Order: sequence, then structure tokens, then C-alpha cells
Amino acid sequence: MKIDVLTLFPEMFETFRTSSILGRAVANNMVSIQTHNIRDFAANKHKNTDDYPYGGGAGMVMMVQPLSDAIKHVLAGYGEEKPKVIYLSPQGKVLTQSLAQQLSKEPALILLCGHYEGIDQRIIDRYVDMEISIGDYVLTGGELPAMVLIDCVTRLIPGVLGSSQSILEESHSAGLLEYPQYTRPAVYDGDAVPEVLLSGNHKEIERWRRQQSLKNTLLKRPDLLDRDALSDEDKKLLKELEDTL
Ligand code: SAM
Repeated sequence: MKIDVLTLFPEMFETFRTSSILGRAVANNMVSIQTHNIRDFAANKHKNTDDYPYGGGAGMVMMVQPLSDAIKHVLAGYGEEKPKVIYLSPQGKVLTQSLAQQLSKEPALILLCGHYEGIDQRIIDRYVDMEISIGDYVLTGGELPAMVLIDCVTRLIPGVLGSSQSILEESHSAGLLEYPQYTRPAVYDGDAVPEVLLSGNHKEIERWRRQQSLKNTLLKRPDLLDRDALSDEDKKLLKELEDTL
């Protein structure tokens, strides 16, 4: 997947794109992340990228000209098939695992990071295909949201993570939260790992994990638990669980 990021702060992406799993995906040419400094496209003498809002009010607004030229420059690098232009915005559709799954199938994305009071509406009207928010709160800029989006989308590209099984079982992938995880040692300061996990009985482990997933969801995020969509086996496990709570 090719990702172009339009930002006033490209340096924020340097460590991000060379570290951890994403860094490995970039090194293996599975993902490319190119940043473009919007300031480089400002046509005015002082390279200003923002101005006062028409109608008055607090803060500054990112100007049309540098943004428009930056977007046109990036789009010119593509052929007929233009990638989606996404504006990271607190007004956008909230990012979920299922939206990340849809986006992971795109060959390319252009991410537009706002700052200050946001960007001139004419940019959104003319170029933006989708506005995406990472949650109902307001950040200073779109850079952290762009990194959040890149991280959760690129790890869903086949081959980026070592095991595709881990994606299938993760929280938010199939409607439930994940079960608790443990690693060595088997006993730490008197706290033992649940015995079933050491039993080697895969069927029992699977059953225990499913029940723990149901438990985690019931206790931490009951809003996610769609009882009607549960299988008969899950309903049985849930009933057993509720009887013990
Ligand atoms: N005045 C804008 C409003 O009320 O909708 C908020 C602007 S915010 C201070 C500056 C920039 O941060 C936005 O242009 C956007 O790119 C980014 N941003 C802030 N919160 C965000 C969120 N929850 N999700 C995605 N992007 C966000």
C-alpha cells in the first residue's frame, strides 16, 4: 500500500515509519509512507500556510492555495486510478476496525492533516473523499490521527503481521473482545497462569478462551455484545458465566 501524507510537520512521522512492525513492512516494500510538507507548496513570500478566518473568530485556518497545490502534486503522481483523499477531522466518520479493514484493501491512500482551526472548506468540497475522526475529542493536529489510521490499517494488510490468526481473534475483529493472555513464568509472585492453558488440551483451551472473550465483553463493553448473533454454544458459555457472576 502506498500512503502519501500531507502535513505541516513531516518530522513527526520519521520515527513512526521506521519503527516496529510498520518499520519492517516499509523495509520489506509492503508499505510506503511518503510525507509532503504543505509549507513547500506555499506560493507567498513568507511561506505562510494559514490566515485569519473570514467572519472573525479565534484561531487561524489553513489556506486553500498551499493545500490545493500539494494535493494536485500528489495526485499527479497517480494514473487514472486516483487514491481516496482522506481528511483527518474530528467531524469525520469515527474510525473502527471494520472501516480499517475496508481501507486495508485500498492500494493507495492520501492523508490530509489539518492544524490550527482546520482547513478551508473549499479543499474539503473539492478534493476530500472521506473525513475520518479517531474519536470524539479534539487534537491539535491531524498528524497523530494519521499515524493511528496508518498503524491500524497497515497491520491488516496480509503479510504485515507474522500471523494472520492473531488478527482474526483480536478485540473488535469478530464482535467480541479478546481473551486474557499470559506468558512465562507459569507462576509469578504466587500468581499462577490458569491451569487449562498449561494442559495442552487444545479443545479445552479454545473453549476457555471463547468463554473469557464473552466475559471480557460482558464486563468491559456490554454494548458490543449482540446476544441474538451468538451461536448456541456461545449462549451456553454465556449462561454458565452469568451463573457464576
Ligand atoms: N476547529 C475544528 C473543529 O472544531 O472541527 C477542529 C480543528 S483541530 C484543533 C485541528 C486539526 O486536528 C484538524 O484539522 C484535524 O486535522 C485534526 N484533528 C483534531 N481532532 C481530531 C480527531 N478527533 N480526529 C481526527 N483528526 C483530528
